[in-house]
Amino acid sequence: LQKGLEEYKDKEAITSDGKKISVEANVDVSGEIDIVISSGANGIGLYRSEQILDELGEFPNEEEQTTIYSKLASRMYPLFCTIRAFDIGGDKFRFQDYKEPNPFLGLRGIRFLLENETLFRTQVRAILRASNHKNIRLMLPMVSTIDEIWRSKKIIDECKKELRKDKIEFDNKIKIGIMIEVPSAAVMAKDFASEVDFFSIGTNDLIQYLMAVDRGNDLVADLYQEFSPVVVRTIHHIVQGAKEFNTPVSLCGEMAADTLAIPLLVGLGLDSLSMSPATILYAKRIINSFSYKKAKAMAEECLTFKTQHEIEERIKKFFEENK
Ligand code: PEP
Ligand code: MG
Repeated sequence: LQKGLEEYKDKEAITSDGKKISVEANVDVSGEIDIVISSGANGIGLYRSEQILDELGEFPNEEEQTTIYSKLASRMYPLFCTIRAFDIGGDKFRFQDYKEPNPFLGLRGIRFLLENETLFRTQVRAILRASNHKNIRLMLPMVSTIDEIWRSKKIIDECKKELRKDKIEFDNKIKIGIMIEVPSAAVMAKDFASEVDFFSIGTNDLIQYLMAVDRGNDLVADLYQEFSPVVVRTIHHIVQGAKEFNTPVSLCGEMAADTLAIPLLVGLGLDSLSMSPATILYAKRIINSFSYKKAKAMAEECLTFKTQHEIEERIKKFFEENK
């Protein structure tokens, strides 16, 4: 896959008619940073911080977390890293304290953090303390109501105040973003966009919640469709809502690295795509191979289709036309 792709390492991902797309890395474990740095990524679009808990089996304290995030930020500098607050629950790291019959519909992500505020504050303080290089962005997982955004921002502001009082340096303008991965957040995109600095669409979850299909259940895997008109129209709705407030939109689900999806996502107006480091050069090459104008026209056509099949066929035709 990497053969002949090396030249894209220092190249930008830019369409033939000049639209730049930021191509970023999803990072699961701390050991991957070397790979990220050599991958040609424009930054880290998703740092899954809950993986620290998987590795340690418990919550690191504020000092320990500050060390982890500071190391990450200084290794990545001057590139940015988007640290996602612990996405606990669902099929990820879970607590024995909670017995949930439907964990995917339960106390997950920001819901867990707001319920366990001390843990949330510890992580926010650690992220802030690591932010003085000004290359960290903070992202909230599984947001489903505007109230969760307000409560989180209040907590972040309070943590900032405490640090200021203690004369600890941090990036006062740290960017706060949210994952859009629950249908309610997608529906409310415009209103949420006025509250935050960026969106990142998490299609892995968004598809499962839109289609009511467990993302890990083989019995219903047929219904888990990236190119379902429901998914395409929902992404369009999110981007349009975000545009009203010039809120940049990224996409960090598996879909971002799918060859067929890339022209569609660029055509729908996404500003950045975040993916596993191994696929970055390949994605850059694809983005360099077509025009935004044509991708946009193709995406608009896809918005009129009623089936996944028609959408896939239209994208394949797009690749034929662009050969
Ligand atoms: C997603 O849901 O698309 C996502 C990127 O987050 P995760 O896979 O960690 O749930
Ligand atoms: Mg998710």
